[in-house]
Amino acid sequence: MKAYRMTKWQAEPEFCDVDLREPGPGEVLVKVGGAGVCHSDLHVMEYPDGALPYPLPFTFGHENAGWVERVGPGVRDVEPGEAVAVYAVWGCGRCPQCLVGADNYCENAPLFSGGGLGLDGGMASHMLVPSARFLCPLKGLDPREAAPLTDAGLTTYHAVKRSLSVLQPGSTAVVIGVGGLGQMAVQVLKALSPARVIAVDVSAEKLASAKALGADATVVSDAGAGAHLTELTGGKGAELVLDVVGSDATLQLGVSASRRLGHLTLVGIAGGSTTFSYMGVPTEVALASTFYGSIPELNEVMTLARDRKIKTQAQLFPLEQAPQVYQRLREGTIRSRAVITPNG
Ligand code: NAD
Ligand code: ZN
Ligand code: ZN
Repeated sequence: MKAYRMTKWQAEPEFCDVDLREPGPGEVLVKVGGAGVCHSDLHVMEYPDGALPYPLPFTFGHENAGWVERVGPGVRDVEPGEAVAVYAVWGCGRCPQCLVGADNYCENAPLFSGGGLGLDGGMASHMLVPSARFLCPLKGLDPREAAPLTDAGLTTYHAVKRSLSVLQPGSTAVVIGVGGLGQMAVQVLKALSPARVIAVDVSAEKLASAKALGADATVVSDAGAGAHLTELTGGKGAELVLDVVGSDATLQLGVSASRRLGHLTLVGIAGGSTTFSYMGVPTEVALASTFYGSIPELNEVMTLARDRKIKTQAQLFPLEQAPQVYQRLREGTIRSRAVITPNG
């Protein structure tokens, strides 16, 4: 089969011919319905050799859903033909984190590793999933629409859910960067919390999308953004700031927009930094970075989508257009989430 693969560090992925292996014991072969195009892949392309624990080559696509094609010996929980979402972080299944379904924080697997992240992912007609434990039944959702729920949906769901205790009626949540993930974050915040949601972005189109998805206010991310957010929060700052970009500029804006006792959560992987010092951040602000969410949380995200509380805005593209789609993501011209559909 044709697969879009990372073959060299600090280079664009390439189309390669790959043999399709039969599923071994415990494994499941999934026919890919949709493989979402995530900005993390652009970061992966930029990393030098040795920065990530990934052996090359591997097939891109860490945001996948499709249909069970064949199961290996011993697999009883899923049937061929069943529509499933693929949980992307493949943990050991036995450590304390995996035992509660938090494979995203597995204590034994290499960091940040899974299908499409160091192991073969969904930018091919099929992908092998090591265990049925990583498959979540779609129960009526279209795989092409569901694919972004497994990363853009799940990552932002986890980041919001862990901070619900600080979001009361009258609270404010700020989402910096409302692209693929940020537009999901806005919807998850509106679905789970009573907070007023302010979207921040450099792009007027992204801000308009965030508004249409429920953001209560929008702020252009320019030199005046900090003052604008201070004014909108009555000088106090926001209870939750989600930085879904992660540059020096957005982290500094995040600190200035945070409130005493609030949460400042870093989701974006642009590689920026800010100073953590006693006078430099609001007192008792809780700083955290997050990575994905757990398997139970993926199931909760699927339920929200079936209940129409959140929706993906998938723009579909054939596999052959993957290079152009990544270029558009780099240029900021993907409206929400691009999804590759290798099987049409
Ligand atoms: P995207 O390209 O779809 O969206 C990024 C958005 O940020 C765009 O709308 C862009 O206009 C906006 N932006 C850029 N610079 C900005 C600035 N200075 N101020 C405000 N907005 C700005 O990307 P995405 O796929 O949504 O991914 C967002 C980030 O999240 C990436 O860094 C990605 O690697 C990361 N990510 C993290 C996890 C995790 O588990 N932590 C999971 C998936 C993605
Ligand atoms: Zn991703
Ligand atoms: Zn584990």
